[in-house]
Amino acid sequence: MATGVKDYYEILGVPKNASQEEIKKAYRRLARKYHPDLNPGNKEAEQRFKEINEAYSVLGDPKKRAEYDRMGHQAFTSSYNFEEAFRDFDFRDLFDFGFGDVFSDFFGGRTTFKETLHKGADLVTRVTLTLEEAFSGTTRPITVTHHVPCSRCGGRGAERLQSCSRCGGTGRVSTRKAFFSISQTCPVCGGTGQQATNPCPDCHGSGTVLKTDTVKVRIPPGVDSGSRVRVKGMGEAGRGGPPGDLYIEIEILPHPLFRREGSDIYVEVPITVPEATLGAKIEVPTIDGVAMMKIPPGTQSGQKFRLKGKGFVKPGGTERGDQYVIVKVVVPEAVTERDREMIKALEGLYRENPRVHLVNRRW
Ligand SMILES: [Zn+2]
Ligand SMILES: [Zn+2]
Repeated sequence: MATGVKDYYEILGVPKNASQEEIKKAYRRLARKYHPDLNPGNKEAEQRFKEINEAYSVLGDPKKRAEYDRMGHQAFTSSYNFEEAFRDFDFRDLFDFGFGDVFSDFFGGRTTFKETLHKGADLVTRVTLTLEEAFSGTTRPITVTHHVPCSRCGGRGAERLQSCSRCGGTGRVSTRKAFFSISQTCPVCGGTGQQATNPCPDCHGSGTVLKTDTVKVRIPPGVDSGSRVRVKGMGEAGRGGPPGDLYIEIEILPHPLFRREGSDIYVEVPITVPEATLGAKIEVPTIDGVAMMKIPPGTQSGQKFRLKGKGFVKPGGTERGDQYVIVKVVVPEAVTERDREMIKALEGLYRENPRVHLVNRRW
């Protein structure tokens, strides 16, 4: 968390008397500008992004901001460690004023930086795929900002540990009362027997630092909107336990041709009057290429045909769903007098009024 000499107001570029609304606005603008997804590989942007988040985690919270104003930058940052600054800071607040995708990719809709005791918190982020990508599976770089153990102090929070001055390293202290000696857990070191001498300057004693990582995530074939892909260990650092996991929530874009229902695909295909009447072999699009399909003579508009095994891979297997082709009979345009004569001649081919079942009925 090397913020240099800049204070949080300078980082966000707002005056000290800025309103909460102005702070929010400045933060949103800067967070968009320096978002790592928009600046791939740009270390400086990544650093700025971290600073902006840190500054906003304090100035965005009126209580912390008041304390910060009262104490000043140096005193605040050395008395508050980074984890404390983030504690109870819920990034969901950000989405309520329309962060949109830039941010949901980053923190996920459900990310909070609340302290967890054992296993690290899970994080959720969202990925949008085309239907084709969902069909064949794909690999996506995912950028996540999470707390990781501080490399400088190895997660201990201190540059050096020494024996606790109160208990001398035993973790227990005795109090003498009359003839009894009562032994209890050392209140200074909490029973660990060790005491931090110098809080680590990188993590300010918290043992973790905020880090932005990009991981390549393999998304298996067949995922649907709402499916979740787990990336083990990419969540928040644990406290005495393993790190949490990162969940990638899938969202699939609507497709101009195909409509998906579970592992089946629906597509509407136009055919001509002669094709419908006489039957034909036509080409139809499928998710993995063109297929030939037979239209039987006497096909009516709206009839549904099945192409077996041309759908999506079913969950947990290799079997595939089906594609359903719904044909739509398209009538020709009659432009010339001759065209009209030809169409009129068709009339004679209807041996029976197609509305016979309607006209003979009393409504
Ligand atoms: Zn550290
Ligand atoms: Zn102690």
